[in-house]
Amino acid sequence: MASGAYRNGVAKGSMKVERSAVAVNPSAKSSSGVKVKPAPSLTSGVRRSTTGLLGGSGKDDASVSGRVRVAVRLRPRNAEEMVADADFADCVELQPELKRLKLRKNNWDSDTFEFDEVLTEFASQKRVYEVVAKPVVESVLDGYNGTVMAYGQTGTGKTFTLGRLGEEDTADRGIMVRSMEDILADVSPESDSVFVSYSQLYMESIQDLLDPTNDNISIVEDPKTGDVSVPGATLVEIRDQQSFVELLRLGEAHRFAANTKLNTESSRSHAILMVHVKRSVRGKEELLSSENGNGSHMVKSFRPPLVRKGKLVVVDLAGSERIDKSGSEGHTLEEAKSINLSLSALGKCINALAENSPHVPVRDSKLTRLLRDSFGGTARTSLVVTIGPSPRHRGETTSTIMFGQRAMKVENMVKIKEEFDYKSLARKLDIQLDKLIAENERQQKTFQDQINRIASDAQNQISEAERNYSDALENERLQYERDYKETIKRLEVQWATNQRKRDDDKLIEPKKECLDMGLGTSSSEQIAELKQSLQKEISLRQAAEEQITTLRGEVVQWRRAEAVANTEVIKLRKKLEDEEKQKVKLEEEITILGSQLLRLSFEADETRRSLDRGDSGKILTGLDSLMSQVRHLQLKDSGNGQKASIAKLFEQVGLQKILSLLESEDAEVRIHAVKVVANLAAEEANQEKIVEAGGLTSLLMLLRGSEDEMIRRVAAGAIANLAMNESNQELIMGEGGISLLSMTAADAEDPQTLRMVAGAIANLCGNDKLQTKLRGEGGIKALLGMVRCGHPDVLAQVARGIANFAKCESRASSQGSKLGRSLLIDDGALPWIVQNANNEASPIRRHIELALCHLAQHEVNAKDMISGGALWELVRISRDCSREDIRTLAHRTLISSPTFQAELRRLRIEC
Ligand code: ADP
Ligand code: MG
Repeated sequence: MASGAYRNGVAKGSMKVERSAVAVNPSAKSSSGVKVKPAPSLTSGVRRSTTGLLGGSGKDDASVSGRVRVAVRLRPRNAEEMVADADFADCVELQPELKRLKLRKNNWDSDTFEFDEVLTEFASQKRVYEVVAKPVVESVLDGYNGTVMAYGQTGTGKTFTLGRLGEEDTADRGIMVRSMEDILADVSPESDSVFVSYSQLYMESIQDLLDPTNDNISIVEDPKTGDVSVPGATLVEIRDQQSFVELLRLGEAHRFAANTKLNTESSRSHAILMVHVKRSVRGKEELLSSENGNGSHMVKSFRPPLVRKGKLVVVDLAGSERIDKSGSEGHTLEEAKSINLSLSALGKCINALAENSPHVPVRDSKLTRLLRDSFGGTARTSLVVTIGPSPRHRGETTSTIMFGQRAMKVENMVKIKEEFDYKSLARKLDIQLDKLIAENERQQKTFQDQINRIASDAQNQISEAERNYSDALENERLQYERDYKETIKRLEVQWATNQRKRDDDKLIEPKKECLDMGLGTSSSEQIAELKQSLQKEISLRQAAEEQITTLRGEVVQWRRAEAVANTEVIKLRKKLEDEEKQKVKLEEEITILGSQLLRLSFEADETRRSLDRGDSGKILTGLDSLMSQVRHLQLKDSGNGQKASIAKLFEQVGLQKILSLLESEDAEVRIHAVKVVANLAAEEANQEKIVEAGGLTSLLMLLRGSEDEMIRRVAAGAIANLAMNESNQELIMGEGGISLLSMTAADAEDPQTLRMVAGAIANLCGNDKLQTKLRGEGGIKALLGMVRCGHPDVLAQVARGIANFAKCESRASSQGSKLGRSLLIDDGALPWIVQNANNEASPIRRHIELALCHLAQHEVNAKDMISGGALWELVRISRDCSREDIRTLAHRTLISSPTFQAELRRLRIEC
């Protein structure tokens, strides 16, 4: 083998000194006469981390190169060897200080090999642990995978080195126990965990040493990480050393041990202890942040929590001796083959790795699969090769040494096994982000506030500056104004002085004249006087001007106010006019409705009478029935409530009181009072009382004195009602009622007033005793005067009055009174009678027909009637009148009058 195999510099100082080397450099002589190539800077002594088999490669690097470290341990002679080999020297000679081993070939020749550590038969278990395993354990605690293996011939002390429990003698404790001691001492029970599995590989089958029934466990390889695990094996958490020792003992008890010729205790199985160490690396994180100072605050915060997983694999390999030497028989031969299958596969892999071969036959055996990352993988690996001293086993010892030498050339890429907890990192980051967002918001707010404050300060300062500036400007202006005024004043004074001088000069002459004229007043006095009066004049004029200005202003204001008032007045006037128009309209409507009602009532009454009795004599009292009809309707329409309330009023207030209200100052009150009285007068029972209480007089006074059309109308209506009673009729006449009614008839224009007046007169016309007086006081004339109105209701009342009057005359005539020509004819009623004898309105026509009949009954009227054209009307009535009683009456009248008969004969008219 070439020394050029040292590929990794100083730390890889491993070499094999062969005889050929002697030839190359014969001057370099060893004690045994061989030349030795010095081991490059292999440090001696035991130092943590930087020494030991694993050397001083930077452990904190996530990935470092590392060579498989190999130590050789020599077992002391056992009792048998003491005897058997008593005459022979050991086959090896150790030079531990030089880390060399000499393998004697014969008495004069030997091969020298250099190892990372050479452990003599006197090496304590403690020292073996420290140089072989401790650096690996420390690596595991730092998150690397680590492997410690013992390789050697059966009985050379592999189990002694690795698995000794040291219960009798603490100093005997092997690597497994000591490793666990160190691990447990270093981990923190709260945050870290230690799990252990213990299995054996026997005849290519993995068996759980903690549960032997759990057999043929499969090996699982993580395709991503390449991690190898035996998930089927029992994992036991280790919390204390004692439980671990118990576990090892249990495993040992289960360990299959075959009795072999070489050593009854020896095992032909591979025992595999796996220790899984999981650590959280808080301590390291803190160290990092403290190193970097405050600036690294964020780095720390954003660092995901680290969990370091280290795996320590301790492999107690089966004996490496050749089958033929093991003395195996029967199935144990197969056994030996299987044992060697795994071992020879391991050897092949190591050879391939040592030679940098592109193909490493890892998959050839279960052992190599299990140790895949221990050799040429990502673990720190330490191999201890055990040898015995006996020259009888020289061959085995040689091969063991050669195995170890090859293993020293295997390089591992050591990777730290760190896992990032991204979930909790994300959580942390979220929290951090939220904190930052909140902080940012706060800062923004503060910033905005600051900006606002600065802006408002600036604004204030600007305002202040502006104010100062305008103040200064104003002061400046005032100052200029003052200066200007003073200058003006000075100039004026100057001017006045000049003027005075000039005036004085001018006055010299007149002054002389004045003196000459003997006025006796000094010119200066005069001037002063004049000036004074002038000044007075000026101030007066100024005052006057001011006054004028003020007055003008006032006038303007007044005009404005007036204009406003005028528009208001116009508006109000307009409103008033509208109101009046509305009122007139309503009144007209009421009038029309009233007249329609009267007409209908009258017609109904007449129809009823003619149907009931056919008595023409009583038709003349039309108004009586009309009024009572109206009254009846009114009371009926307004309901019992009004009737009752009026009666109640009558009782409570008293008639006298009501009548006194007729003279009230208030027109409204008068109107209401007269309405109430009119309503009362419609009741026959009240009529006498009203008249007795002076109501008639009051009503007549009202008729005479009032200018209110409505009062006159209602009063006339009331009088008309009262005039239905015979005794009242006399009273009315006695109190000059007819002249008052005549006056009203003459100047009233309202058809309803005229209707009432005409009605009242018509009632009076029906009184036999009052005929002459009535006619004498102008009653008939007043009645006829009202036809000018043309309203059928008025005309009907006029016709009724005429009919009443004619009836009374004919009655008097039939009772034998000596009467002259009818007063109606005297007062010129006949033309109107004839004219309206065939009036379209039946109430008018009926009354006139009756009047004609009554007039015709009095012979003295016949001549006038014939000449007035009344005869023709009588004939028509006697022939065509729809009412039979009137027709008969007309006929009888015509027959009974000789004058009419003669005329009819003359005219050859048959009747
Ligand atoms: P292996 O496991 O390699 O077959 P063992 O560890 O069983 O060998 O050792 C065989 C015998 O040798 C045991 O009795 C053991 O106590 C003893 N032995 C091995 N190595 C030493 C040593 N370094 N010091 C004292 N006794 C040892
Ligand atoms: Mg053993």
